[in-house]
Amino acid sequence: MKPVFANSAFVTVPERLFLCGGTWRRVPLKVRYGVFRHPAAGPVLIDTGYGPSVTRGPRGLALRLYNAILGPDLVAAGQPEAVLQRLGLKPGDVGTIIVTHFHADHVAGLHLFPKARIVAKADVLRKILKQPAHKNLHQGIFRDLLPVDLASRVDDVDGVGLREAPLGLGGGHDLFGDGSVLAIDLPGHAEGHFGLCFANLPTPLLYAVDAQWCAEALEEGRRPGFPASLIADDPQALAESTRRVLAFRQAGGEVLLCHDPAESRYDLAAEAP
Ligand SMILES: [Zn+2]
Repeated sequence: MKPVFANSAFVTVPERLFLCGGTWRRVPLKVRYGVFRHPAAGPVLIDTGYGPSVTRGPRGLALRLYNAILGPDLVAAGQPEAVLQRLGLKPGDVGTIIVTHFHADHVAGLHLFPKARIVAKADVLRKILKQPAHKNLHQGIFRDLLPVDLASRVDDVDGVGLREAPLGLGGGHDLFGDGSVLAIDLPGHAEGHFGLCFANLPTPLLYAVDAQWCAEALEEGRRPGFPASLIADDPQALAESTRRVLAFRQAGGEVLLCHDPAESRYDLAAEAP
């Protein structure tokens, strides 16, 4: 069971923002999200990427400002409806969406899937729904992007049993009870942020989401400092999570990050054939 990753948008930022020792050259970062077919659960999405709910139409002022600052350049062929169609699927076929954290670039397409079960950190969502808007804003979270019934559709990641992940990665929540996809806690970037280990692939894959923004930044000495450290929910936890991801790669695992500008063999080709 191999996931594929689509690119929903490009966000162009100076390299030194995400890589220590990087240049001022502006680099188009991808905004990936994943799709795989589980033999029992059917089509599953990993996050939803950026979509028009961030860039167009009626939105709160905060979301409009956020959009103006980041200026995501949406990829039409990379939006969930187009990607699913390419894979022979419709949004209604997606029964499960794994939400790694609640940042705008991961949840902007949730409204397309009003029936899907959401696998996420239930306590983090509860906190988001309770706390005042300015606190969420400070954390890069916009309530406007979260469907009103979201909490009622959440299956809590932390309620799922643990299983040992390969290559010394440690314990992960066995999301489908068959050892195929393990949710690995990688705190620091955002509260409750987790990655996914596809443990049974010939080379185990860790989708480490936003543990860093490019593969080189996992290395000691290449991790970005200010202002990236300012955005992190918990810089110390982020450093520890980065070490965990790097150790997995050094042990022979493969790592994919949401925003890495480099092509991955898990990426869907940019254009339909
Ligand atoms: Zn994020």
